[in-house]
Formats: sequence, structure tokens, C-alpha cells
Amino acid sequence: MTCKQLYEPCDALIHGESSEEMIKNSQKHGMEMAAKGDQDHTKIMAEMRQHMGDPEAVKQWMEKFQNEFDAQPEDI
Ligand SMILES: [Zn+2]
Repeated sequence: MTCKQLYEPCDALIHGESSEEMIKNSQKHGMEMAAKGDQDHTKIMAEMRQHMGDPEAVKQWMEKFQNEFDAQPEDI
């Protein structure tokens, strides 16, 4: 899956064996990009942190992500 599919702003490929691993790797990628000074990723990471304080928003995000992950063909 790409960064974009995980609601981040670029086309970098994120790999993971499971949806949990994907989320972990996408957050790592987002933080790495933010650390390099990428404005788009900095903004998304800040928004994600805000959503993490809202259990209902997290649940919705996880469900949407899980559906997309399940619909994804074998990762390249
Ligand atoms: Zn990205």
C-alpha cells in the first residue's frame, strides 16, 4: 500500500504483513518524513495525534483502513 492510502500525502510504498504492522510502519514513515521537515507529513501526523484522543474516530479510521487492507492484492 502507499502512504496515500494511509491518509498521508505521498506515494511512498509502505509494507507490512498485517494491518497492525502497516499502521506501525506508516507512522514510522510519517514521523521520519516530518523529522526531515516535510510540511505535509508534519500536518498529517499532528492531525492523527488529535484523532487518537477520540476513540470513535480511531475506530472509524481503523475500520476503513482494515477494509482497504483486506481489499489489497498481495503487496509488491
Ligand atoms: Zn509519505
